[in-house]
Amino acid sequence: MRFPDIKTPPPGPRASALVDVDHARVSPSYTRVYPLVADKGEGLWIRDPDGNTFLDFTAGIAVCTTGHCHPRVVKAIKEQAERLLHMSGTDFYYPSQIALAAKLSQLAPGNGSNKVYFGNSGAEAVEAAFKLARWYTRRELNIAFFGAFHGRTMGALSLTASKAIQKKHYNPLVPGITHIPYAYCYRCPYNMCYPECGIECVRWIEDFLFRSTMPPEEVAAIFVEPIQGEGGYIVPPPEFHVELHKLAQKYGILYVADEVQSGMGRTGTMLAMQHFGVVPDIIALAKGIASGMPLGAMVARSDIMVWEAGSHASTFGGNPVSCSAALATIELLEEELMENATVRGEALMAGLREIQKSMECIGDVRGKGLMVGIELVKNRETKERASDWRNETIQKAFQRGLLLLGCGENVIRFCPALTVTADEIEVCLSILEEILREVTG
Ligand code: PLP
Repeated sequence: MRFPDIKTPPPGPRASALVDVDHARVSPSYTRVYPLVADKGEGLWIRDPDGNTFLDFTAGIAVCTTGHCHPRVVKAIKEQAERLLHMSGTDFYYPSQIALAAKLSQLAPGNGSNKVYFGNSGAEAVEAAFKLARWYTRRELNIAFFGAFHGRTMGALSLTASKAIQKKHYNPLVPGITHIPYAYCYRCPYNMCYPECGIECVRWIEDFLFRSTMPPEEVAAIFVEPIQGEGGYIVPPPEFHVELHKLAQKYGILYVADEVQSGMGRTGTMLAMQHFGVVPDIIALAKGIASGMPLGAMVARSDIMVWEAGSHASTFGGNPVSCSAALATIELLEEELMENATVRGEALMAGLREIQKSMECIGDVRGKGLMVGIELVKNRETKERASDWRNETIQKAFQRGLLLLGCGENVIRFCPALTVTADEIEVCLSILEEILREVTG
């Protein structure tokens, strides 16, 4: 069994020197939680410039689905880089973008008749969805959820309702967006209990919102994460998306699934929405799509993506190297990795539930596939958020060579590469348990 190898407490001298230059020269707006300098990656393992080796349960924020530098992805990148680096899919055609569009169109649920718009990031995919929804419906209003993260460009940021700091000093944003509570059953915003609630969080939209302030016939789209990501890895109950989708259909409102974090096999199906049996009208993809190469994609039904030439485009979007990396990534997902995500995800959740039995501080364990979170609380009855314990756990894990990230206010997320092995899960769980016992005394 392989364990993290910490030779010098991180950051060691070489990492520290780089961090100093970074602090002097790189935008201070980034949110680095600990000073990891990643020099080399292989599978789930990251080496820093001081020779420390870390076990990575972040996958570069849920991006490196195939593990760091998977040989087949690297090969595809090298071959494409030697052939063609850029030509711009905005003005010209090239095979890798066409092949990827055909593949994504067929992967997205529905009748297989979809079209794809390519950008460079999650925010661009969401931004494109936002614009297409307006263009197609000619409606001005939109619904999104508290806790949602959809990106940081002005349109995507307007849909985001995650942390106030992300919006501070940027108002006014795009008007016409109403945020409503997500189906967060562990902390139901309506103080109700599933399933007796009858999915009040959806009923409320029709009973109150549409009757009071938001004429449904003016709503272009509902933007929703199938499983809320940055908001706290929140898995809604099975009926949530079904009921919300029914409501959208009733009023001709487009259903936009932001699968930027939950998509591309992470939950054991290509798209997380497949777990809920709902076929969205528009899907935003990025992160895991190309194993770390920058790429965003917005997939929509062909009868919706009817905007005219010149209405939206991006010079770099759908770069040939990124598209080739995506094609290799999808092959790996289909061959073995989605299956692995299901099996390993269950093992990870079972391990966390086992720890939860003897640790009061783990209020909730939730997830699908390898999109897993634990919510730390001071007390299981009051559910008081233990943000300090969460933060301390993540810092200590880094010092021990385990890379973790938080989400929400008090959640630790586990989003390793889909190549994760049973041994790697065991190592992660044992380090985590040790630290949780230290932190919570
Ligand atoms: N949508 C979701 C659900 C996300 O989790 C993120 C990033 O975390 C984004 C959109 C924005 O993606 P990007 O950072 O690539 O712009």
